[in-house]
Amino acid sequence: MADIKVRFAPSPTGYMHIGNTRTAVFNWLLARKLGGRFMLRIDDTDTLRSKKEYEDSLREVLRWMGLVWDEEARQSARIERYNQVVEDLKQKGRIYACYETAEELEVMRKRLMSRGLPPIYDRGALALSAEQIAAYKAEGRRPHYRFKLQPGTIEWTDMVRGVCRYDASNLADPVIIREDGSYLYHLPSVIDDADFGITHIIRGEDHVTNTALQIQMFEALGAKIPAFAHLPLLTGAEGKLSKRLGSLGVRELRAEGIEALAISSFLAKLGTSEPVTPFYSLDELAASLDLSKLGRAQPKFDVDELRAFNTHFVRNMPYELVRGRINADEGFWQAVRGNLNLVADAEQWQKICCQKLKPIVEDAALTATAAAVLPPEPWTTETFGAWIAEVKKLSGKNGKDLYHPLRMALTAAAEGPELKILLPLISADRARRRLLGEEA
Ligand code: GLU
Repeated sequence: MADIKVRFAPSPTGYMHIGNTRTAVFNWLLARKLGGRFMLRIDDTDTLRSKKEYEDSLREVLRWMGLVWDEEARQSARIERYNQVVEDLKQKGRIYACYETAEELEVMRKRLMSRGLPPIYDRGALALSAEQIAAYKAEGRRPHYRFKLQPGTIEWTDMVRGVCRYDASNLADPVIIREDGSYLYHLPSVIDDADFGITHIIRGEDHVTNTALQIQMFEALGAKIPAFAHLPLLTGAEGKLSKRLGSLGVRELRAEGIEALAISSFLAKLGTSEPVTPFYSLDELAASLDLSKLGRAQPKFDVDELRAFNTHFVRNMPYELVRGRINADEGFWQAVRGNLNLVADAEQWQKICCQKLKPIVEDAALTATAAAVLPPEPWTTETFGAWIAEVKKLSGKNGKDLYHPLRMALTAAAEGPELKILLPLISADRARRRLLGEEA
């Protein structure tokens, strides 16, 4: 098998959001699954809208998510290379200059539409005489350039959509260089994919038509055509993914305390025939990747579902993943994780168990009795059963009347992990003092 290489090619014109994060996740997982390389390509040909701040932030998000890249490239550093290819394609008659203004093109488009015809550029520029061109230039018009499509069927077998077929005569020659000389997306992307040996392109289905155009560009360059997978776009609970959700920033999710692996697990299975389940390593998630399990329907993305999944994820999270992030040992983590919504919430329980606290005594007789019969250490979770049976017998209380006052005295909170888990963490001395209403 040829060396596998995929790329994630964000434009640094905004922060990482759920949509492009999903594209990055799929690319990374495919590279890992196939034993290939993952490239980060910064698509910054739009110099006005590209910002360093966005680029820094997207790198940070990728790193945080563990989607590390093996190599990187930057389009703005490759303009000379693009110019070289353009010269060559001009010679071959595959790139041509056009002089229409935006207004003229708009009039042409409207005229075609009003006649019920597709708004396909008529290649008028190819019929211009040398005098007309000279006149346009004298007027101060500067050319933009189009790529000339060849007639015929464009076909590929998409890894998600199956056989895709386009008739080139239904497509307009794409503009590849603007009047100001700047590059549009299509051609630089193909030159890069060819030069860097990209074997698989995974991106959103909003690029399907671009793929048809780009396949002809790969052919014009004499390059091997990569395999394509177009992911159905995410929609919001109310239909089309709203601006708010579509642009939901991963930085915000991170700040909220959502786990990176929960996001990857969730996004990798959304819209597939497989259930969304927690994966506690990217390698395991990669091993499970199967693009043929992706449906054609646009999956619904609901941020509250992600939050709920994150809770489930945290409650089963192995200690190795939180080591260094919380100031507590494995036993503590195992004891409290089932009650957490976020990993950071563990700290609160750590404080409750191990730091001074003002107990809330609601039934002094009961808690004093409980203090008097606390068994000697060492405690296990079994200790609790024997102790509570004794307190029950002596106090005559049970149910909420028994447990609630004990919990309030021991933790000063009405809810939390089971007392039988907390008790050994609190320690005998501190528990006794709290049950007697002393700050401890
Ligand atoms: N910069 C392009 C985008 O963000 C890349 C598309 C592609 O993957 O080819 O849409």
